[in-house]
Amino acid sequence: MNTSRWNDLGKFLKAGKGHVANVSTAPGRELVAEDIGPSRRDVDQREERLFRALDDDNDDAVLARDLKGTLRDIGLLEDDQRLCESMAAITSALNPNPKTEEENRRINKSSFCLAIRHNILLIERALQGRMVVPDFAGFEQRMAGIFDRVRAENSGVPADYIPQLNVQGEEADRFGVALCTTDGQRASFGDARKFFTVQSTSKPITYALAVEEHGSRYVHEFVGHEPSGVGFNELTLNRDNQPHNPMINAGAIMTASLVGLTDKRRLIGGGEAQGGGLRGWSGRRFDHVLDRWKALCGNQEPRFSTSVFLSERETADRNFALAYFMRENGAFPDDVDMHDVLEFYLQCCSIEVNAEMMSVIAATFANGGICPVTGERVLQTDTVRNCLSLMSGCGMYDFSGEFAFTIGLPAKSGVSGAMMVVIPNVMGFCVWSPRLDALGNSVRGVAFCRELVRKFNFHNYDDLTGSSRRMNPRLNPIQVRAREVNEMIWAASKGDLGAIQDQLGRGAALNFGDYDLRTPLHLAAAENQSHVVRYFVDQAAAAGGNGNLSPRDRWGGTPLDDAYQHDNQAIVAILEKAGAERGKARSAVDVADCGGLTPASFESSKVDELIWAASLGDLIAIRRLVAQGVPLDLADYDRRTAIHLAAAEGHVDVVRYCIAHHVSCNPTDRWGNTPLDDAIRHDHQDVAELLRGHGGRARSARSPGG
Ligand code: GLU
Repeated sequence: MNTSRWNDLGKFLKAGKGHVANVSTAPGRELVAEDIGPSRRDVDQREERLFRALDDDNDDAVLARDLKGTLRDIGLLEDDQRLCESMAAITSALNPNPKTEEENRRINKSSFCLAIRHNILLIERALQGRMVVPDFAGFEQRMAGIFDRVRAENSGVPADYIPQLNVQGEEADRFGVALCTTDGQRASFGDARKFFTVQSTSKPITYALAVEEHGSRYVHEFVGHEPSGVGFNELTLNRDNQPHNPMINAGAIMTASLVGLTDKRRLIGGGEAQGGGLRGWSGRRFDHVLDRWKALCGNQEPRFSTSVFLSERETADRNFALAYFMRENGAFPDDVDMHDVLEFYLQCCSIEVNAEMMSVIAATFANGGICPVTGERVLQTDTVRNCLSLMSGCGMYDFSGEFAFTIGLPAKSGVSGAMMVVIPNVMGFCVWSPRLDALGNSVRGVAFCRELVRKFNFHNYDDLTGSSRRMNPRLNPIQVRAREVNEMIWAASKGDLGAIQDQLGRGAALNFGDYDLRTPLHLAAAENQSHVVRYFVDQAAAAGGNGNLSPRDRWGGTPLDDAYQHDNQAIVAILEKAGAERGKARSAVDVADCGGLTPASFESSKVDELIWAASLGDLIAIRRLVAQGVPLDLADYDRRTAIHLAAAEGHVDVVRYCIAHHVSCNPTDRWGNTPLDDAIRHDHQDVAELLRGHGGRARSARSPGG
């Protein structure tokens, strides 16, 4: 999570020393390289594994375009600061050949390994699919869909209290969305690079800076935590004569008054104020604020709009009224200069960023105060927790309660149409679109959030039981499918009734078929697990029918066929008594004689993931598994393998990848089928040709599967 850690590791590895783990030294002894294991060889293997995963043709070269494209699909952009050393190394490693475009140039293994070594932890995690949003490309695509739908919403009007915000025409219709995950995966849409003034989205940040400076206790001696229940700029204080919370104008003026106060007190206390010691203080304070904004944005420079600041100052009657009212009620610390604070508050509102930058700020909040793209801790965890709590209850003007109810996410909006939304521990969003609703929130910003929580289980209180039907982008969809379907089949094949009941209790369905439409009942029948078959039959009877006792698999076989084929008499009797039907008879071979690796040394879930990925033709997912070190020839409960399924579904690129990665062309499944049998059966001639060209054989003259 930390750039400097990555870079340090990169330098350490570059020096040929090893991988930082399991560090232990005798007391009183300095840490030396040898203490840091595993060995250099282990690191080499890891680098090589990543290279192999991307070297589709196994021809000892990866195209620069493919490496960058793979990282981009994961959400790691080329300008990612954490990758700059690796990116530079890749560029310099490319063999300069004027005939070849840089993107198409080949990187050989040693250059590849040298390049990724700089940022190995991040690159390894990315290529292995271990980022917070594993299927980032799919997520990005869905976000693009939401963006397009929300763009059609063009009601509302830009703020009109100063000319700079009262934009018209094309400017009023601007729409930018950006997101950044806690792993620094980024995507943006539309006008995400157009700068806008942050306005009230500065409030959580000003509050955070005050808390960082003074601690939460002190800050809340001057400002409350409650939603005000009245308008955001209402002339009212709470029972203790404090502004209600830091997200409304009075509260933000108050927190602004605390920023930089320690420095001021030091100057005054030290007697430096006399003789012009305070000169330069307010400038330093604003520099400090800009510096923190820059750190929150991942080292990108915020700007400042002088014209907005000047206009704000001319029209700030209400803010002046609030400040006078607070001063009259003794709300400010004694040493605060109210006029100075008002200027400073308006300066903070006039800072400019773009949606991409603000999404990184939101991601820093989502990430507990550590900026995901630099690894710098910008805010303390507790400060962030405070901010998010206040944003949850008070961040959306007079819509805050309804927003908390319907959207359920901490957010802050501003009159420029900016909106910052945090999904804690997952990602941050920024939506910017100047048209506002009657309550002062960006119309598209709110619409976007509605779509977001309609599609994904992002609402704070969503999915507490795990049964939400909304998508969970924190999970890998292939993993989800493998878990939903195959776990029960493995349990049935092993006779593990407890595991089956556990999964049914969690809402799993009995009759889900896998990539070959094989079901738990097929496998229980094939593997002679009569107690499981009996349980399924009882369940079907309790559900009032026997319809689900005869599901057909890819070859038309039913569980009763499996029982016959394996001569499992007791099961034949149970199933026939229950009215189960036969389908297409097949002869089975002894499973023990089949090829393919059993998953003994690998979690069965990896086998399932691999084979699903092959059946779906998802080469990205397959590369990820290879990057994790998963062998490509793992076999499932029917001894089916990735190359079988890729052949059956006609995914020639996956078959080619398997062959290039030394997978045998002739593993046989439970019925003695080879991948070529699958290809012939489904008439995938290109796959069949490829397999034949690499020594693939079909079963004897018998018809495949028959
Ligand atoms: N500059 C504005 C004010 O204080 C900020 C308004 C807002 O975004 O809510 O009046």
